[in-house]
Amino acid sequence: MTQAPSRAVQLLRSLLQVGPLLMLAACGGNGSSSSTSTTSTTTTTAPGTPTLNSATAGDAQAVLAFTASTSGGTATSYTGSCAATGATTRSATGTSSPITVTTLTNTTTYSCTVTATNSAGSATSTARSVTPAATSSGGGTSTTVDTTALPVGTSKIINTVPTAVGYLYACSGTTNPNNPGNTAQGWISSDGTTWNLQTKSIYAVTGNDSWASTFTNTIANAFRKLDGNGLPSHTTGIYKITNETSPLAYQYDQNPNSIKPNTVAWSGLSTNPTVNATPTCLGGGAVGIFLTGARMFAAFDAKGRDARAWEVTDACEGHPQQTGAYHYHSLPKCGLTADVAGQHSAVIGYAADGFAIYGPQGDGGTTIANKDLDICHGHTDTSVTQYHYHTTETFPYTIGCYRGTPITSHD
Ligand SMILES: [Zn+2]
Ligand SMILES: [Zn+2]
Repeated sequence: MTQAPSRAVQLLRSLLQVGPLLMLAACGGNGSSSSTSTTSTTTTTAPGTPTLNSATAGDAQAVLAFTASTSGGTATSYTGSCAATGATTRSATGTSSPITVTTLTNTTTYSCTVTATNSAGSATSTARSVTPAATSSGGGTSTTVDTTALPVGTSKIINTVPTAVGYLYACSGTTNPNNPGNTAQGWISSDGTTWNLQTKSIYAVTGNDSWASTFTNTIANAFRKLDGNGLPSHTTGIYKITNETSPLAYQYDQNPNSIKPNTVAWSGLSTNPTVNATPTCLGGGAVGIFLTGARMFAAFDAKGRDARAWEVTDACEGHPQQTGAYHYHSLPKCGLTADVAGQHSAVIGYAADGFAIYGPQGDGGTTIANKDLDICHGHTDTSVTQYHYHTTETFPYTIGCYRGTPITSHD
């Protein structure tokens, strides 16, 4: 979780930029008796040149991610424009990054720019080229997930035992809508119901920090013991997030936490856990350990929202919390053995109730969907006859509740 008031910071910046206007407005009510010699007209400065950081191809579209210039006046609108020889120039206008330009012709290479405009003038970024292409079907998998419009799972976070699949059973009192958190993200739809993973990935925390990860997984007397320093076995983005190291991520999340060792000492995990009739709720903090050596958190943030949809992470989908514990709210995209086509996924971690967590492939390599799983996001199948959880691309991503009894101490 992060508590960076990114919108507040942005608002503050924009307030500072329009400071003279505010002063005029504040003084304006005093009539003409003011003795100060302020001018009666407001001079607006044309915006500085925006920086087009990336142009990402989609199916008949391009997503233009940019940052405003720190010099010049405040832009009132931004227009993304994509042109190509022999094709119709397309454009789209908005007030913030990113801007998605649609109805492009697939396999045609476009040159795209972003223009910042206000009443005094405009400035256009340097161009980036992009070639839209139809999304590949992938072929052979049972489920196609549209990663440009994943459902936001916030409404599926409940404090009672779920009666249907796709929910997350959170222990009551673990979240509070008044807790700090981001207030807007450019990849969530305006009505808040879907989010675009492809757009969000543009804002991933960048960098290549490596860690001296330690992790052991030992079994004695039918109990598993997981020990380590909590650091991931893969490289990560650079935390804390700064405008210098991750300018795109910083726009939405100023996570001030750095990654630090946090001892993992989980013991007493049964290697043959009991499937309980009544599941157990998930609390804040760690609910499992991935074989990367780092922690798995449930898919809610401190405000009780879909954490994967809202929180900024690095390309491995991890980030640190207040004590520096690096954790994921979804399948780690780094450090795990890749799935083999046509085969059930391998074990990628363990939940605090001892049941194993597998990747997204079920029997025969088919992609697992919520409908293939129970209310806790697990099942048994031909390949793995012991109850187990699966990760999915859609909410709740990892586990929805504990099907077994969690160990009491699992920080
Ligand atoms: Zn988090
Ligand atoms: Zn399975």
